[in-house]
Amino acid sequence: MSQDVLVINSGSSSIKYQLVDVESGEAIASGIVERIGQETGSVTHTGPDGKTTLEQPIPDHEVGMDLVLRLFADHGPVLDASVLSAVGHRVVQGGDVFSGPALVDDDVEAKIEALSDLAPLHNPPHLAGIRAARHAFPDSPHVAVFDTSFHQTLPPAAYTYAIDQDVARRYAIRRYGFHGTSHLYVSRKTAETLGKPVEDLNIIVLHLGNGASATAVRGGHSVETSMGLTPLEGLVMGTRSGDIDPAVVFHLQRVAGMSTDDIDVLLNRKSGMLGLCGRTDMRDVHAADEAGDETAHLALEVYYHRLKGYVGAYYAQLGHVDAIAFTAGIGENDTEVRAHSLAGLERLGIAVDAERNAVRPKVPTVISPDGAEVTVLVVPTNEELEIARQAVALLG
Ligand code: ADP
Repeated sequence: MSQDVLVINSGSSSIKYQLVDVESGEAIASGIVERIGQETGSVTHTGPDGKTTLEQPIPDHEVGMDLVLRLFADHGPVLDASVLSAVGHRVVQGGDVFSGPALVDDDVEAKIEALSDLAPLHNPPHLAGIRAARHAFPDSPHVAVFDTSFHQTLPPAAYTYAIDQDVARRYAIRRYGFHGTSHLYVSRKTAETLGKPVEDLNIIVLHLGNGASATAVRGGHSVETSMGLTPLEGLVMGTRSGDIDPAVVFHLQRVAGMSTDDIDVLLNRKSGMLGLCGRTDMRDVHAADEAGDETAHLALEVYYHRLKGYVGAYYAQLGHVDAIAFTAGIGENDTEVRAHSLAGLERLGIAVDAERNAVRPKVPTVISPDGAEVTVLVVPTNEELEIARQAVALLG
C-alpha cells in the first residue's frame, strides 16, 4: 500500500501543503495558497513539472483547496484515494482534549471548534482548511495532529499557573505548550543520532524559528516547555515578547490608555526582535549589529540571555542532561546564537566547538567537542514528516 500523506497547514489567509512519502521521508510535491479572501490570490505548486503559479481571486479555503486539486491533476503527481493513504492536518491548539493525533469526524471538528477560544487566530482557519480538504478528498481519511499533544505529559507542577484555581479551571487557563510536533521529532532524531533509546535520555530541545520554544524532554516525554496558554510566553521571538511581567499589561491599560487588543498586537506582533531593533529576521539583526547598530546589539544580548536562562532552568528541572538540540530556522542556521547562548556553561558540561559549530547542516550534526558531558547537536526539524508519520501510525 502507498504511504503518501498530504500534509496541510491552513492559516487565515494561506494554505501550505506538502505531499510526503512516509517511507523515504521525501516531499514529493509542495505548495502554498496565498492571500485567501483578498483581491488577488495565488497558488504556487511544486511537483514533477517544477514550479507552477496560478493567480486569481481566492475568496475562501474551499476555492483554495479546489485549485490545489486542479494543480495536482494538471501537473502531478496523481493524487487520488489509491495513492493517498491520508490527509494530515496541523492543528495548533488541542487543549487537554487531544493527547495524540485524531481521526477527523464531525465530533473531532466540533471539539477543535470548541477550543477556538484558546487559539482564536489558529483553530478557526485550521477548521476551514479541514472542512475544505474533507470536501476535496472525501475518500481519504483525515487526521488532525496537534502542536499541544506532545506536552500533555507535563506534570501538574509544570503546567499549573499560580493563580486562583477556580478561575484557572473555569477558563481552562494552564500551560499547554506548542511546537510539540517539532519537539517530538527532534528529540527522537537526537536519540537516533546518539544511537540510544530516547527512553534513556534527557534532552533539551531548542526550537528557534520566527516563533521559538524550549522543551525539557525526559525519557521521550515533554516535562517542561516555555510556551504557555498561548505561543506568546517564553523565549524572545521574531515579533513576540516572550516572558514579561504580567503587570506590564495593566500598566499599559492604566497609564497609556491602551486597549486589550492594542496590547495583544503590541506583544504578539510588535515586540521580540522587531520591537527591540526594528528587524525580525535574524540575518538582518546580525548584519545591523556588525554595522554598529546598538539596538541590534542589545536585541541579540537579550535573545542570548533569555535562551541561556531557559537552558539553565531546564538543566535544573531534568537533573542531568544528555543532549541539547538546536532546530528550526535560527537553530539550524545561526552559528552565533548557538555559540553565545551556551557560552560559559562549561561547569555544566556544556560546550560548543567553534569549528564544528561553523556549519548549516542538512542532517543531524554534533557541535560539542569530543568527550563533552552534554552532546550539543543541530537537528533539522521536519514537522510535515512527523505529521505524516503520526497519521499513518494512527491508521495502523
Ligand atoms: P517559522 O516556521 O517559525 O516561520 P523558521 O523555522 O522557518 O520559522 O525560521 C525562520 C527564521 O529563521 C527567519 O526569520 C530567520 O530569522 C532565521 N534564519 C533563516 N536562515 C537563517 C540564517 N542563515 N542565519 C540566521 N537566521 C536564519
